[in-house]
This record gives sequence, C-alpha cells and structure tokens, in this order.
Amino acid sequence: MFFDSHCHLDMDHFAADLDAVVARAREAGVSRMVSVASEVARFDAALDIARRFEGVSAAFGFSPFEAAAADPALLAPFLDRPEAVAVGECGLDYYHDIHPPELQKEAFRLQLRMAAERGLPVIVHCRDAWGDMRFEIDAAARRFPGLRGVLHCFTGTLSDARFFLDRGFLVSFAGNLTYRRSDELRRVLLALPRDSVLFETDSPYLAPEPLRGRRNEPANVARTVAFAASLFGEDAAVTGKRAFRAASRLFGLEEVP
Ligand SMILES: [Zn+2]
Repeated sequence: MFFDSHCHLDMDHFAADLDAVVARAREAGVSRMVSVASEVARFDAALDIARRFEGVSAAFGFSPFEAAAADPALLAPFLDRPEAVAVGECGLDYYHDIHPPELQKEAFRLQLRMAAERGLPVIVHCRDAWGDMRFEIDAAARRFPGLRGVLHCFTGTLSDARFFLDRGFLVSFAGNLTYRRSDELRRVLLALPRDSVLFETDSPYLAPEPLRGRRNEPANVARTVAFAASLFGEDAAVTGKRAFRAASRLFGLEEVP
C-alpha cells in the first residue's frame, strides 16, 4: 500500500505510455498518486488524467516559474473540481534564475489564501529560499489557522523541517533520498516523527537509485519507501502504510481504500 504524493503524469514524458505507467504503479502496490499539473497550459490535460484513472487525484497551481501568470480566475474552476485534492505546486525558487522574489511571494500568498478558503492543502516547492519560506509559512499559519500542506521534495535542514511541522505542514521525500551524497537528508528523515513524512517520485524527475538518470515513474515510490524503511529498520509495508495514511489524511482521502 504505497502513495506517490507528487508526480507529473501530464508531462510529455508520459504521453506515449501512460496506461502502462499507471498499471506498473498498481502492480508495485502504488494505489494512490497525486498528479500535480505541471503548468497552466496543462490544467485541462491534468484534470483529464485524474478523471481517467482510479486512484489518481490532481493538484493545480502556479509554480514559481509561472508566478507572472498567477491569475485566480484561471485556477479557481480547477480547484472546485472533485478531482482536485490540493493547491500547487507553488512556492519560492531562488535557485533558478526566474521571477524576482517579490513576484514569487505574491503568487505564493495568493495560492495560500485560495487553499485556505477552500479547505485544501498546499503542495509547496522550495529551492534555496528557506529563510523566506519560513517567513511565508509562519505568516500563513497565523492568518489561516487550520491551513495544511506539504513541503515537497524536501531538501532543507532538520531545523527547517521542524519549523514547518510546528505550523501544520508535513515533509515529503523524493528519490534523491537514495543518492550517495544525501547523508544530511537521511539524517533529517531519521530525526522526524515518522507519521509526518510522505514519499513521492516527482516523476518524471529524480529517479531513485539504482535508476538515477532514467525517466522516473510512480511505481518507483516503492523503492524510496523501501530505502527509508531500511533506514528505520522496519518492514517496507509498515513504512508504506504509515505514509499512505498520512498522505490520505492530508489530501482528504479515505485512510483505507
Ligand atoms: Zn513537482
């Protein structure tokens, strides 16, 4: 029982064989996936995928790359669909040379508010912006008590993770957890309460070892969970089930399918 809390099934990488990709996920025990719309122009395609495949839910939002296009009128109709389980991904990215921080923050705040208004969780992207992200999440948690979310593909410190957990957010680990240089990330994982941790593939990116560099797909979340389970010293089924429950709670899905 595995849950891929973050993948991008609408991307061209999957256009030719999406049915087989989802079938392989199910065979690997990955019965639920949140497919995050990769860009505004793909909202319709992303919705279509969630409607087509049992166990696949959708998230819609403006990533930091599209901060300049963050128009609530474009997003609202998709958030109001029953297939939508989260707003995102949205957040701050100071690693890539994209929009200025102020513009990114404006788009992020808009989406935090839209999530709070609808009682939806937020899928947060953060790259090299941990200080500002702390400030934004703290402000949002004060302004919207009950707002929940997840820091996806977490790469921050243990202190960052605890800061977000204290404000009602979870953290999600992707395939980079398995990479040779990720000792710090593994240390963070081991120090956190296990029921505050989700797992994801971020497909088609970040394939876990030994598949690093290849196209990633949701079936591979089982590998990252098994890797985490070996760090925890427990059975992969135990780790998988715990994360499945945590993800289901966050996204408002039944805890036992
Ligand atoms: Zn993503």
